[in-house]
Amino acid sequence: MTENNGQRRLRYAIIGAGMSGVMAAIKLLQRGDADFQVFEKGAELGGTWRDNRYPGLTCDTPSHAYSYSFALNPDWSQYYATGAEIHAYFKGVAERFGVMPYIRFNSEVTSCTFDDAKKTWTLGIVDGSAYEADVVIVATGVLHHPKMPDLPGLETFKGKAFHSARWDDSAVLDGARVGVIGCGSTGIQIVNALSTRASKLVHFQRSPQWIMPVVQFEYTPEQRAAFAADPSLIEAIRNDPQYWEAVYRFTEGVTDFTSPQIKEIEELCRQNLEQNVRDPELREKLRPDYHAACKRLIYSWEYYDCVQRPGVSVEVGQIDRVVPEGVLMKDGTLHELDVLVLATGFRADSFIRPAVVTGREGRSLDEFWATRPTAHYAIAMPDFPNFFMLNGPGAPVGNFPLIDIAERQWEYIEQLLEPVRRGEARTVEPLEPAYQAYEARRIAAAKKTIFGSGCTSWYLDKTGIPATWPWGYHDFANAMAKPVAEEFAFAA
Ligand code: NAP
Repeated sequence: MTENNGQRRLRYAIIGAGMSGVMAAIKLLQRGDADFQVFEKGAELGGTWRDNRYPGLTCDTPSHAYSYSFALNPDWSQYYATGAEIHAYFKGVAERFGVMPYIRFNSEVTSCTFDDAKKTWTLGIVDGSAYEADVVIVATGVLHHPKMPDLPGLETFKGKAFHSARWDDSAVLDGARVGVIGCGSTGIQIVNALSTRASKLVHFQRSPQWIMPVVQFEYTPEQRAAFAADPSLIEAIRNDPQYWEAVYRFTEGVTDFTSPQIKEIEELCRQNLEQNVRDPELREKLRPDYHAACKRLIYSWEYYDCVQRPGVSVEVGQIDRVVPEGVLMKDGTLHELDVLVLATGFRADSFIRPAVVTGREGRSLDEFWATRPTAHYAIAMPDFPNFFMLNGPGAPVGNFPLIDIAERQWEYIEQLLEPVRRGEARTVEPLEPAYQAYEARRIAAAKKTIFGSGCTSWYLDKTGIPATWPWGYHDFANAMAKPVAEEFAFAA
């Protein structure tokens, strides 16, 4: 911590160079605060968009909304951008804003330890080095630890089997017999992409999904030139009242599973199924037995078309085991396959872990999170001073536009740190009673959300309670606009 024009200059450690970490680095640089390092475990930046390279990868937030507010992009090629295009965008922005020299690649953080006397954090890096910081920003993402299915015999498979976030480029897909296990957003997009490439494609669905129909389209070169000449056209798309109305209706609808908004969403999904799947037998296979939006809603303009293509089939039976030739079902059916894609999701409760985090007086993060990962307003925790998370536990991830969340969270953190920068305090952390009261309110509200209405999903913690933000978009925006100072301890 050094003096800088009467302000204390804090040293920051940012963990993760994905969307949130890059944003945090840019925000610091824009403020003239260059005393920081970004620690990235991979060899490249981009987080989700680096790890996920599967065919068909597309973001289901419209591209102009899935952009930093300070780095609009006139060149998005379509309404829903591809993963490759988004990855290139983040790399381009990081370069343009001068973030690259601050990133230490291949530098997984293995521990963060708070020093009570010095009021600093020491980060242990995988190469054995250490870094001392006043403030830690955790930007490690939510869905980055692949969840491998516990399928007997998987290791005996003669073909290629791999998780969707560890795509095996050596796998031949064209003309191959491919199985895709899982029908979250990932499995659906992979099936769409492979439906014209594989000679035989089997979509294994333990629980079918509701599909919300959306429209995809390309931006013409003329439109893109117009966006470049006049960024207010991009702002108009970002602020499109219809888009935001849909976000508000959805986010407010999910807070109560009996709400009219949820009924409306379910009806749209049901009509999509009834009207677009011709074969009654297939239609029933694809019909979920839980409320729409209980699992994260799938947005697709093509899934029902793709799954009805020749050579594509849906398997809703129980898998018995994987055998060298393919997947054997409990009813004895053998699906012979060359490639098996495991689109089986992620361990969403890991966050910064397996890094070992030790707060004030030796408090362990693993113990703090023994029941479930939580944080005060999804950002900070008592006994972990100057330690903040972006898109952390209980944030509205998967529900609101993710970049918007991270930018709003950053504004909240900045405000919390103001007294520390002014030298009035050295640390800030939520008070235990304030955090406890918040968490009790959050859990009570979470139980009433659509996510808790009787399905399994990565939204649920191990006790079955939704681990998400349980209120609407406006509540989140209001909460992030100004922290309640009385809920925090500012210590000298
Ligand atoms: P997911 O939503 O967790 O889906 C995992 C799928 O695998 C489920 O269908 C699950 O079935 C199935 N599964 C898991 N273990 C299985 C097993 N042992 N046997 C059979 N089936 C098994 O994972 P995801 O599709 O990777 O998506 C995760 C999240 O990433 C999404 O919800 C979304 O937030 C994000 N995402 C976003 C986009 C985008 O376009 N923005 C694209 C991809 C992903 P059950 O439902 O029965 O458990």
